[in-house]
Amino acid sequence: MGAERTQRIETLAVHSGGRRPGPEGSVVFPIYQGTVYTYDPGTDYHDLKYLRLSSTPSQRYLHDKLAALEGAEAALAASSGMAAITTTLLTFLKQGDHLLVADTLYGGTHDFVTEHSHEVGFSYTFVDPGRPESWAEALRPTTRLFYVETITNPLMRVAPLRKVAAFAREHKLVSAVDNTFASPVNCRPLDLGFDLSLHSATKYLNGHSDLVAGCVLGSRTLVDRVRRMLNHLGGTLDPHAGYLLARGLKTLALRVRANNRNGEALSGFLAAHPKVAHVNYPGLPAHPDHAVARDVLSGFGGMLSFRLGGGLDAVKRLFGALTIPYVAVSLGGVETLVTRPATTSHAGMRREDRERLGITDDLVRVSCGIEHPDDLIEDFRQALERA
Ligand code: PLP
Repeated sequence: MGAERTQRIETLAVHSGGRRPGPEGSVVFPIYQGTVYTYDPGTDYHDLKYLRLSSTPSQRYLHDKLAALEGAEAALAASSGMAAITTTLLTFLKQGDHLLVADTLYGGTHDFVTEHSHEVGFSYTFVDPGRPESWAEALRPTTRLFYVETITNPLMRVAPLRKVAAFAREHKLVSAVDNTFASPVNCRPLDLGFDLSLHSATKYLNGHSDLVAGCVLGSRTLVDRVRRMLNHLGGTLDPHAGYLLARGLKTLALRVRANNRNGEALSGFLAAHPKVAHVNYPGLPAHPDHAVARDVLSGFGGMLSFRLGGGLDAVKRLFGALTIPYVAVSLGGVETLVTRPATTSHAGMRREDRERLGITDDLVRVSCGIEHPDDLIEDFRQALERA
C-alpha cells in the first residue's frame, strides 16, 4: 500500500489491490463465488469470512483497489450507490441527531432524508454549499454529519470542499461527500480534508452501464463502522457485479480523461452556438463556481447541461436529430447520453421550484461518453441545425 501511494491513478487503476502472485498465478483476480469459509475459533462475528459480511477474497481485492484510487485507508463496496449512501447516513445519524446537508442533492438521497429521517429520528437542515457564512447558524449541539456532493446535478455547481471539510473538523462533525460526478480521477476528497467519500459505482467507476454498485472510502475506523451497519442492513455487493466493477476500474483513468476531453470540447462548442441560450459546465470561465472547480478538481468532468433558445419543442427536435447520444438516464458510461432533467431526475419537483433553480423544461443534460470529440460536435452541430 505504501508504495502504491506514490503511483499515478493510471497505474493504480490497473494494479492496485492485485495480489502477487495471484491465486494459482492468475493475473486477473478471480470471482470467489463461495459464501462460506472456514474460520478460526474466537473470530469476531463481523470478521468472519462470509459473503454478506463483505469479507471474501474477491470483496477484499475490490476494497483494496477502490481505496487506493483516492488514497483511502479502507473502502467498502455496496450493492448500489443508494445502499452506500443510506448505510452511511444510518451509521452516523441516530435518534436525536442532526444532519447538515447540501440543499441540492441526488434525488434518491434527497428523498431518503426528507421522507425517512423522521422514522429514524434524526433531523436535518439544508444549507447552500456556496454560502459558507450561512452554515454556522444551521448548527445544533446534536449535529453529527455534514453531507454534500462534489458536483451537483443538473447545474454542475461545485462545492467548496476544503471549506466544508474544515468547517466539519472545527465543529467535530463527520464530513461526507458524494464524489460520483467527479470520480477519483477528477477529485480526491480525502486529500481536501473529508472523512468519507462515497460513489455510485454504477457511473464512472464501472463506466460501462452494466451494473449497479456503490462504495464508501475513508479511514479504517469509519469505514469499519459503515461495514458493520451494512452487515446488518444486508446491502452487500454480489461477487459477479464486483468482478465487473474491478474490471471496469482498470480503465477508469483512460475513460475519465476522455469524458473530460469531451465535456470541455462540447461545452465550448455549445457555449459559442447561436441557438444555445446557456451552458452549465464548471470548466467554462463563466460558470459561477469556475474558481472553486479549479481549486478542488483536477479535471472538469464529462457532465454538462444547456438550455436551447427555442424552448421545449426545439429540445424535442434536437433529441430526434442526434445520432450518437442515446436519450437515456444515468451517466458516467462510455456512451454519450442526453436527458431532460425536468422529466427525469427532477420530475418529482414542483414546476415553480424547478424553474427557480434553473431546471427549466428546456434544460438538456449531457453525460459525455468517450467517443471522438469531433464526431460528437459534428453530431450536435447537425442536430442543432434541425432543432
Ligand atoms: N449519487 C449520485 C450523484 C447519482 O447520480 C446516483 C444515481 O444516479 C446515485 C448517487 C445513486 O446511485 P445508484 O443508482 O447506484 O444507487
